[in-house]
Amino acid sequence: MGSCSSCNSGNSLEGEGCSMAGGQSDKGMANLSEDEKLKRNMERIAHKILVLSGKGGVGKSTVAVNLAIALALEGMRVGLLDVDFHGPSVPTLLHLEGRRPEVTENGMLPITIEGGMKVMSLGFLLQRPDDAVIWRGPLKIGAIKQLLGDVEWGDLDYLVIDFPPGTGDEPLTVAQTIPEADGAVVVTTPQDVSTIDVSKSVTFCRQLNIPVLGVVENMSGLVCPHCSKVIDLFKQGGGEAMAKRMDVPFLGRIPLDPEIVEASDAGRPFIYHHQNTEAAAAFRRIVESLLKLRKSA
Ligand code: ADP
Repeated sequence: MGSCSSCNSGNSLEGEGCSMAGGQSDKGMANLSEDEKLKRNMERIAHKILVLSGKGGVGKSTVAVNLAIALALEGMRVGLLDVDFHGPSVPTLLHLEGRRPEVTENGMLPITIEGGMKVMSLGFLLQRPDDAVIWRGPLKIGAIKQLLGDVEWGDLDYLVIDFPPGTGDEPLTVAQTIPEADGAVVVTTPQDVSTIDVSKSVTFCRQLNIPVLGVVENMSGLVCPHCSKVIDLFKQGGGEAMAKRMDVPFLGRIPLDPEIVEASDAGRPFIYHHQNTEAAAAFRRIVESLLKLRKSA
């Protein structure tokens, strides 16, 4: 794991976080405009990966959290930003419910979980997780800009951004606010109804000049709870076929694994606690592909 300057807590990656106290405040930021603050904060992040999906419920947040942790386990300094208005789930997935970011004169500090990964979620700013669902457009846009501009990430190798689902105003605003993203990982399930939405996400990226890093086919086959082999439950390969048709890379399949649901509900990062599973290996292969892309860029 990457080191955490303030909590220095070694390799453990339990969801229960420790709040990061001070240390990285950039003096002089308080007087900058929102746009300048955003630019300054984003300049300190080497790679920004957007995690998109054409629709909700396909496992976008699960993929974002596990990819971020897999990158951190590779020794990268990683931030995870959750701007999913439709019930931000990162606080639950990392057992950080009820946590509030520390406010500084320049903005907000992300919450640093043990092992050093930094986390910011819209959910930390809401009274109730689904409050933002009823917000009107301008309020959402203001919140997006604040979340992107006011968070002091410090120096990061990767920022993984869990997007709002779909291709509407919310993902559009987030995409337009993040300068120079490396690209998008598009999450789908194998069924046709979901893969059709992938093509919309790919078109969305193309219209905004965001490179598509690749498609992840989640819930692809089922890990048998008895023999741990992957059973072809629904049809597999839909995401891969769609990636081919849309001429974008295919990053891999993640099977349905009941342990993912249990770990997620308990706020225990799956990939950290179940490293010897097919699903964890699938996440690692995806991260290897992303790291290779960085090297070849
Ligand atoms: P989204 O962000 O697309 O709305 P989530 O990541 O919140 O979706 O996942 C929805 C539900 O599906 C959660 O209960 C999560 O634990 C579960 N889930 C996601 N991926 C898998 C998987 N590969 N195997 C089993 N359950 C999964």
